[in-house]
Amino acid sequence: MCHVIPLAAKGFHAFNSGTSVHQKKNEQNMETARAASPMRRKLGLMAAGMLAGKVIPGVAAQSQSAAGGGTDAGTATRSAQRIDVHHHILPPVFREIMGETAIGAPAPNRVAPAWRVSDSLAVMDRYGITTAVVSAPPLWMPDMAQTRTLTRACNEFSAQMVADHPTRFGTFAALPLPDMAAALKEIDHSFDVLKADGIGLMTNYGDHYLGHADFVPVFDELNRRKAVVYVHPTSCTCSRGLFPDQPDSLIEFPHDTTRTVASLLFSGTFGRCPDIRFIFSHAGGTVPFLATRMSILGSIDKRLAQHVPGGVMPILRRQYYDTAISANPISMAALLKLVTPANVLLGTDFPFVPEQGTKATLAGLREAGFSERELRAVEGGNAAGLLERVAREGARTTA
Ligand SMILES: [Zn+2]
Repeated sequence: MCHVIPLAAKGFHAFNSGTSVHQKKNEQNMETARAASPMRRKLGLMAAGMLAGKVIPGVAAQSQSAAGGGTDAGTATRSAQRIDVHHHILPPVFREIMGETAIGAPAPNRVAPAWRVSDSLAVMDRYGITTAVVSAPPLWMPDMAQTRTLTRACNEFSAQMVADHPTRFGTFAALPLPDMAAALKEIDHSFDVLKADGIGLMTNYGDHYLGHADFVPVFDELNRRKAVVYVHPTSCTCSRGLFPDQPDSLIEFPHDTTRTVASLLFSGTFGRCPDIRFIFSHAGGTVPFLATRMSILGSIDKRLAQHVPGGVMPILRRQYYDTAISANPISMAALLKLVTPANVLLGTDFPFVPEQGTKATLAGLREAGFSERELRAVEGGNAAGLLERVAREGARTTA
C-alpha cells in the first residue's frame, strides 16, 4: 500500500559527507524502532485505558466511561484515542545535513535533542498517546538543492515510520518551499505515493510568509485536495538571533505564527482556500491575544478589509490550534475565548520539549476546565475527525 522506498535505495550520494554513514544510521534507527515493535504489539492488545492508566490516574476510568457512555461504539472508541499532532522527527539525515549547531540554535536548551523512533514510542506508551502525527523540525536552507533533498529524505523517513507502525504514527509531509515547482511535485509524491496524512509547513520560507503571492499555486492545490495543513513556527531574518542569549523559540516563534496567520488573512488565502484545515502550533502563537486587534485595525484599512469581507474573527475561529507549550491557565484561557474546544488539538512538541513537557501538557489540559467529553475531544477526538487514516488505524489499538 505504502510505496516507501528504502533510504539506502534513494542514492543520497548527492551529499559530500559520509553518505554511507547516514544511510547506516537511518537503518540503525529503523532497526531500533522495529525492535521495539514486539513490545508495542503486546501493549497494543491491552485496552487504552489500562495502557494510559499506568501513568496518568483517571485515564483508565475515562476511557471506560467513553466506551460505555456512547451510543455509537465506533465514535466512543475513536474518542478514546490520544493523538499528538505536534511531535517531531530528528532522523540522522537531518542531523547530517543541517548540523547539530543549526538544529540546536532555536531549541529551548540550545541543543539538538537525542532522538530515535523508539524514544517516541516509549514516551507515547508512558503517556497513553495512541498516535503521533510527526513532522520534521523547521528545515530550510539557502541551498535549494539541499532543501529539496532533505525534504524528500524526511518525508520518506516518516513514511517508513508509518509503514513500520501504522497504528502509532501519522505524517505531515514537508515541502521544499519556496521552490514552487518542487513543492507542487512534493505534494503529489507525499499524498499519492507516501500517503501522507497532511502537509507540514513553516511559518515563513526565506521571509516569505504563507500568504505570499508566489505561494498561490501551492495553496490552491492543497485546497483542491482538502488537505490538513499543519503550520510550525520558525524565525525570520530580521529577528533571528536578535537576543543572542535567548533561543528564537522563546519569543520569536509564537510571533512568527501570528505573522503568517496575518499573512494568510490579509492576502485572502484563508478566504480563497476554505477547504484547507489549518492547524497552528502553540495555541496560535500570539493570535488569541491579538485577534481583536487584527479584527479592528484590519477593518479600518480598506486594502486589508477587502480580503476578509466576512471579518477576521469568523476565520480565526474555524482554524485549529495545538496545545504544545500552551496547556497552561493563561494561554488556554485566551485560546478558549477565541475558539471552542472543538478546535483545540493535543500537541506536545516532543522531543524538542523533553518528556516532562508531555506530562505537563496532559496535566495542564486536565486543569483547563474542560468537561470529560471536551477533554477526550481535545486529546484525540478532534484530531481523529481531521485525520481519517490516523483515526482508523489508531482505533485498532483502542478497540
Ligand atoms: Zn515544534
